[in-house]
Amino acid sequence: MPDLNDVFTPALGQLEVQQLLRRRRVAEPAGEGRLRVDGQPRLAFCSNDYLGLSQHPALAEAMRNAIERYGVGATASPLVCGHSPAHEALEHELAQFVGLPKALYFYAGYAANTGCVAALVERGDAIFSDALNHACLIDGSRLSRADIHVYPHNDLTALDRALSAHAGARRKLVLADAVFSMDGDLAPIPELLALCERHDAWLMVDDAHGFGVLGEGGRGSLSHWGLVPSRHMSRLIYMATLGKAAGVSGAFVAGSAPVMQWLLQRARTYMFATAAPAPIVEALRASLKVIEAEGWRRERLGALHDALRDGLAGLPWQAPASITAIQPLLLGDNGTALAVMQALEARGIWVPAIRPPTVPVGTARLRITLSAEQRMEDVKALCTALQDVACAIGG
Ligand SMILES: *Cc1c(COP(=O)(O)O)cnc(C)c1O
Repeated sequence: MPDLNDVFTPALGQLEVQQLLRRRRVAEPAGEGRLRVDGQPRLAFCSNDYLGLSQHPALAEAMRNAIERYGVGATASPLVCGHSPAHEALEHELAQFVGLPKALYFYAGYAANTGCVAALVERGDAIFSDALNHACLIDGSRLSRADIHVYPHNDLTALDRALSAHAGARRKLVLADAVFSMDGDLAPIPELLALCERHDAWLMVDDAHGFGVLGEGGRGSLSHWGLVPSRHMSRLIYMATLGKAAGVSGAFVAGSAPVMQWLLQRARTYMFATAAPAPIVEALRASLKVIEAEGWRRERLGALHDALRDGLAGLPWQAPASITAIQPLLLGDNGTALAVMQALEARGIWVPAIRPPTVPVGTARLRITLSAEQRMEDVKALCTALQDVACAIGG
């Protein structure tokens, strides 16, 4: 057997040649949506901190106070050492916030999705998964050992056909991002629910990018679509992450009481992982209050969104429609995506280039994200810089 370095040094070289090698930057917040990146000040359009809550004083204060009461670590799995009064309260508040009977809080969205999907279905069952779903829904599907049927992005006709073709499966579970993470477009949840009803299937939606941003008071995608979640809980499972618009970390799954009880028995990423520290949980409880109370953050995001859309419209590259804070600019090949990213960086602006396997081959892009922390002139500066870059390197 070759030694480790003889295998991985050439493999890394190959990634480099394909322009697929990823590099981490050292970055820290510098106020008003700015970052200091490798020591250099940058206007940043890369975070999922859509409401700017990661820097909110009320959340920081809640976390500091909780450290006094709880210390910094949760010490064990919630099933071994219990969970804190803070955890208990957060789950109750999350369920109420999204209008479902029960919620289960996980230390990460990745863990929530992989654990839940694998707990809901098993060998002999069928999963129907949108082609652009997030990696952790895909990994959860693989872990479950159910048959996986991938349908083209948001193609309801194809999904309908697939559900008919596999009508005999024991359990049928449709999986979709509520807001697609690299495109910013929405899954048509009411139509998905109707299809699930017709085919006697269940629906799990991942609202990582809708929670806090869309819907009344930031209640997320179900509210955005005008759904009354409790009416659908016999076939709907809702999941959202809390490290994005909520500004902290972790995630939750919400639905009927028996389903949440089952996940507590069978979601291995919940059972066999140390709980998130209580100070994080108290920061999240404060975050829920701010999400609801500070509606101006969503309004500000809307205004920044409109200005950015105007600016993107004049560029030679495609900017697919997106009503959310995620605005993709499709550049096609990896080299162009990297060149545009670098040209922006030379102008003091950081927008990440997203390449395969995060997005399909040939759809490398800039993923521009907005935050209520940013100023209008920053968004205008980004649009001007993009126009300059388009002229300089040709679109
Ligand atoms: C970020 C993300 C996750 C993972 O959540 P983490 O809390 O970051 O682990 C899951 N689903 C989608 C759609 C995401 O964008």
